Amino acid sequence: MDLSFTPDQEAFREEVREFIRTQMPPHLAAKAAVDGHFEHEEVMEWQKILYRKGWVAPHWPKEVGGTGWDAARRFIFSEELEKAGAPTLSPFGLAMVGPLIIQFGSDAQKQRFLPKILSGEEAWCQGYSEPEAGSDLASLRTTAVDDGKGNFVVNGQKTWTTYGQYADWIFCLVRTNQTGKKQTGISFLLIDMKTPGVKAVPMLTTGHTPAFCDTYFDNVVVPKENVVGPVDGGWTMAKALLGHERTLIAAVGTSTRALIRVKRIAQEHGLLADPAWRGRIARLEIELEALRMQNYRALVGAQLGHAPGPESSVLKIRGSEILQQAMELAMDVMGPSCMAWFTPPGVLSPSEQWIPSAFNYTRATTIYGGSNEIQRNVIAKWILGLPAQA
Ligand SMILES: Cc1cc2nc3c(=O)[nH]c(=O)nc-3n(C[C@H](O)[C@H](O)[C@H](O)COP(=O)(O)OP(=O)(O)OC[C@H]3O[C@@H](n4cnc5c(N)ncnc54)[C@H](O)[C@@H]3O)c2cc1C
Repeated sequence: MDLSFTPDQEAFREEVREFIRTQMPPHLAAKAAVDGHFEHEEVMEWQKILYRKGWVAPHWPKEVGGTGWDAARRFIFSEELEKAGAPTLSPFGLAMVGPLIIQFGSDAQKQRFLPKILSGEEAWCQGYSEPEAGSDLASLRTTAVDDGKGNFVVNGQKTWTTYGQYADWIFCLVRTNQTGKKQTGISFLLIDMKTPGVKAVPMLTTGHTPAFCDTYFDNVVVPKENVVGPVDGGWTMAKALLGHERTLIAAVGTSTRALIRVKRIAQEHGLLADPAWRGRIARLEIELEALRMQNYRALVGAQLGHAPGPESSVLKIRGSEILQQAMELAMDVMGPSCMAWFTPPGVLSPSEQWIPSAFNYTRATTIYGGSNEIQRNVIAKWILGLPAQA
């Protein structure tokens, strides 16, 4: 299997690097250089720059605004963005509900929603999890009851709604049928966040960002035409969407960048001469190279037309663990300075400023997108062929 890139692909990589170098505004580039946390407006600003270039949705079909790139180019593009520390675009519209509407939506839904997802005019969030439904998502209790006048009336609570406070729309899994297996009575519903009765209440994370909301629905009236796919058929869509989310999480570029910073900080602290520190860094670098190769193999499979299967669970587990280990190593090389959280600029070196916050946030990578324990269950069942749990 040839895992090297062609001269054409390398030329494309150079074009992407040049674009990032010349088009990223200085205030974003300054934050990118130190892997700072980008605020919602900054993320949307970068989305609009990519949109104007026509590069905002490489994975969408060309007819609806995609780039027409093959899997290798898409990979190179996202790797270069990650390596440059560019703002990560919100996945909820572009990577989640957008592709789902493309696949399962009506023509009217495509026309209404896709252009504004691309342009960033409308931001989205995801309403899956509930206080009593996380890994066991099918236990969700938020109800949508037919009012007989062409609407559903929604009542319930979603939780961990990432950036719900900034979103214009939320895509939700709601229970439309109480009978039968719990997976069968679920529908996929698009809800305008401005509808009376919707309330998003932000909560602060340990990374000190208001990244999540509890989202409440109190007699929220939603037109029935906002159901994507068949009523009671939402579970199929939920699964399709989660598989896609998982393949996004290997984050090889982000870990590569994190390791470069670990080395820079280790150098600033005079640790690189110590073989013990060099050994720890080298071990992680080897793990990361193995992940990169695994990612390339998946890429070659995609180029040959194979849909990602349960191997995306392997990428998710290793990618999330390696990123966490890189951030742990960064905290270790910082030594006591890693306790200086949320200090104003100038207290820590620019390379260190955002490490504690990033360390905290990356604790979540083994949880979201289906926790790593659940991914191990997937591997046990679908790759190893082991019997399901009793
Ligand atoms: C950063 C972040 C962002 C998120 N954003 C969103 C969002 O925007 N929208 C949204 O809807 N949700 C979001 N979530 C929620 C996320 O999907 C859930 O946290 C996740 O599905 C796990 O559910 P839970 O938190 O209820 O944990 P639980 O399901 O209660 O799990 C608790 C622990 O038990 C383990 N466990 C559970 N079942 C099994 C099993 N069968 N076998 C082995 N181990 C098991 C889990 O792995 C975990 O360690 C986000 C979560 C995080 C951390």
